[in-house]
Amino acid sequence: MARDARRLRGVVIGGGGTGLAVAYDLANRGFDVTLFERGELTSGTTGRHHGQLHSGARYAVHDVEIARECMRETRILRRISPGAIERNYGVFVGIGDDAEYLPEFRDACADAGIPTEEVSPRYARTIEPNLTEKVSAAVLVPDGTIDAWRLALEFAAAAVGHGAEIRTYSPVVAIEHRDGSVMGVRVRINEAREEFFAADFVVNAAGAWAGRIAAMADLPLEVTPAPGTMVAVKGRLTNMVVSRLQPPGDGDIVVPQRKLSIIGSTQSLTDDPDNVVATDEEIEFLIRKGALLVPGLADAELHAAWSAVRPLYGANGADGRSLSRGFRCIDHAADGVAGLFSVVGGKATVLRAMAEDVTDEICRYCAVDVPCRTADTPLPGHREYYHGEAAGERFRTGSHT
Ligand SMILES: Cc1cc2nc3c(=O)[nH]c(=O)nc-3n(C[C@H](O)[C@H](O)[C@H](O)COP(=O)(O)OP(=O)(O)OC[C@H]3O[C@@H](n4cnc5c(N)ncnc54)[C@H](O)[C@@H]3O)c2cc1C
Repeated sequence: MARDARRLRGVVIGGGGTGLAVAYDLANRGFDVTLFERGELTSGTTGRHHGQLHSGARYAVHDVEIARECMRETRILRRISPGAIERNYGVFVGIGDDAEYLPEFRDACADAGIPTEEVSPRYARTIEPNLTEKVSAAVLVPDGTIDAWRLALEFAAAAVGHGAEIRTYSPVVAIEHRDGSVMGVRVRINEAREEFFAADFVVNAAGAWAGRIAAMADLPLEVTPAPGTMVAVKGRLTNMVVSRLQPPGDGDIVVPQRKLSIIGSTQSLTDDPDNVVATDEEIEFLIRKGALLVPGLADAELHAAWSAVRPLYGANGADGRSLSRGFRCIDHAADGVAGLFSVVGGKATVLRAMAEDVTDEICRYCAVDVPCRTADTPLPGHREYYHGEAAGERFRTGSHT
């Protein structure tokens, strides 16, 4: 018999885009939800990525599953989050013999359901005048720009609007379980005090830190923290997202973000996601590689350089590039702790789908029969998050739109 979700208490660990989307989906289906974030919302990888809305074209040749998922979610996010998503599109640019990659790229995009339009180098430079004169091939794709902070806060506002509680500066320090079932989490309230929060289920959405959270319950979790450095220069040198028409590599993307141009990224591996820095060599490398696509980047004034850590699912490859950008929901009942779930991997573009999958799993576990509605409901504005309860009423009644 189906149970009433309102009697069931869930804890979400991690206030990045994924955790916030999970809190929203759970609260929307009626669960009593509390999210704990150790710092400010978006202070992990969510607040630090390029902000590329991935159509999936970047992954189509080597990782078709995530490519399809990205395309599906691009369509959904454009619909539910017009305030955080820019419909500025993307162009894959070939230089010299990159054009040889074109047939494989075009076919793979078609397989993944990603529309492409090949245009002449001359036309590409008409719509993006700062592209290199050396363009030998150009393909338009439905990429775009995400305002990463706004998108995450829109999910936070929606979660709060459905009654979820979000507690920042509240690190989870232990997961308690007994007789094979999760009991709840311990949270550090201040230097001297910890509190226990009982829960019927716990979702580990701690991104690159998810392995450490699983270890609190003595469980293994294959997450590879893979840092990447990005550089922002002043000036919006392109309007579209510009990518190199090659298999994914370092320094091959330029994302227009507000009035800045972000060049990304590098890729390495680390055991410690809290200690990553952008080196001078990486900065010089990224500007040099970015300038192959958009020469003006070489002379633009540096705005900032920083690193963020990808939460890749899987064990360390020789380098993180060989690991899929796909995501997984893991039900730790199979490892001996029922009621504990991890959701790892993925991209910011697919955060809503990650939340839907793990919430579906939890509904099955709790015998709750409520479908996902997040793909069809426009999100409230990000500022609604600041207004908490009052915003909730407006959102529930639909008067925020
Ligand atoms: C260089 C780079 C560029 C990228 N570019 C893009 C892009 O352009 N487009 C795209 O779609 N994706 C991009 N990504 C991927 C994307 O950024 C991530 O997939 C996404 O941000 C992960 O979100 P998350 O919520 O899962 O993790 P996070 O945002 O890292 O959230 C996890 C949260 O858990 C919290 N936490 C950790 N431990 C605890 C604890 N003990 N208690 C409570 N909270 C805790 C952390 O503080 C953190 O806020 C990029 C990634 C990198 C590294």
